[in-house]
Amino acid sequence: MPESLQNITDLTLKELNQAISLLGEPSFRATQIHQWLFSHHATSFDDMTILSLALRKKLSETFSISHLKLVDHQESPEEGCDSPTEKILLKLSDNTFVESVLIASENRMTACVSSQIGCPLQCPFCATGRMGFQRNLSAGEITGQIFALNQLVAAKEPGKTITNIVFMGMGEPLLNTDNVLEAIETLSSRNYRFCLSQKRITISTVGVIPEIQRLGKSGMKTKLAVSLHAADQQKRESIMPIAARQYPLKELGRSLGEYSASTGMPVTIVYLLLKGINDSLDDAKMLARFAKTFLCKINLIDYNSIINIKFKPVYSSTRDIFQQYLINSGLHVTVRKSYGTTINAACGQLATAGKQNPQ
Ligand code: SF4
Repeated sequence: MPESLQNITDLTLKELNQAISLLGEPSFRATQIHQWLFSHHATSFDDMTILSLALRKKLSETFSISHLKLVDHQESPEEGCDSPTEKILLKLSDNTFVESVLIASENRMTACVSSQIGCPLQCPFCATGRMGFQRNLSAGEITGQIFALNQLVAAKEPGKTITNIVFMGMGEPLLNTDNVLEAIETLSSRNYRFCLSQKRITISTVGVIPEIQRLGKSGMKTKLAVSLHAADQQKRESIMPIAARQYPLKELGRSLGEYSASTGMPVTIVYLLLKGINDSLDDAKMLARFAKTFLCKINLIDYNSIINIKFKPVYSSTRDIFQQYLINSGLHVTVRKSYGTTINAACGQLATAGKQNPQ
């Protein structure tokens, strides 16, 4: 197959429609081809037996089909859980890499997927942010991560499948909203393989205000999680400088209020506890004031240490006091267990800088 052919899985459905119309074919053919790629995971145009031989020939002269390739797989046994957390390294058609994580808990198989290679927001506590930014992932590359993770699930227990998706891997999903939403459409549509309820999909953002407004108006039923990490503007700027300056706390609070009022859905406020930085009683008071202005629940998470980064996790006693203050303030608070720390698969630990095919 000539190298120069464009990889068809990188096209959005709209681009595929345009390409198919240039080949003189009706638009429903684009839908059929898209379904063969992202339902049947077709690896060759010959697989698409619903198409005429002539069209399959035209397609193979114009495009290649390149799905994500699994190049590394690590497992981290979790205390009290039969299934390990698994991290995979996937190679993309342009020889870049992305990481994704599979988390088994209770009756769930959660896929934690990436939306970008690296991240432009460069939060100093995050391994992905320290990589810098390479590029957005296409909708096909986002969907491809689910296929790759699902193969692991099915290999262990035929018939089992991914039950939930969280956009908490590498990158800021709301800086790649078009592709993220297209992938969600594919993953949740009845006409495609996974057919997941949008309520089982969570988009996690640092608070990209215009895109939160867009999401609120989109009619999507996905859940929204916002990484707050501080309820004081200055402190937030010290923890996540780019995001906090671009999306100031006051405006963020207003847009979250509008979002929860218009969708009727609570927002999850994610608060990463960093020792000596945002873990005092005053911090808890500021968080309670912020969170009481709209429908939300709070998710406290412990920091997962990263080599050469100065931030440290809090003692469990500090976390208990912080949590209790919020509960006493009438807020709904949970503590999120970290999975996959031993293989650097936990929150903020994903990074593919310098990764090469280990095979
Ligand atoms: S925490 Fe999220 S937004 Fe910040 S650098 Fe990491 S991936 Fe980007």
